[in-house]
Amino acid sequence: MKIVCCEKIDCAQRFSVVEFGRTRPAQPEPRKIVCPYCGHVTYEQTRGAFIVTALEVELMLLNNEE
Ligand SMILES: [Zn+2]
Repeated sequence: MKIVCCEKIDCAQRFSVVEFGRTRPAQPEPRKIVCPYCGHVTYEQTRGAFIVTALEVELMLLNNEE
């Protein structure tokens, strides 16, 4: 799992992206990552797929302290 920040300047929310199926014997393909807050779409290469989850407020605060 990784925490990413929305690329859209006026959103800039953080959310978690879990990649699964990355060991599949398939060619990596660009897959959608959709911001759960504003719907902004980005693409990343993966052999599997992504699960995107909005972070809880507490977790966001923890990450902001870094
Ligand atoms: Zn966003």
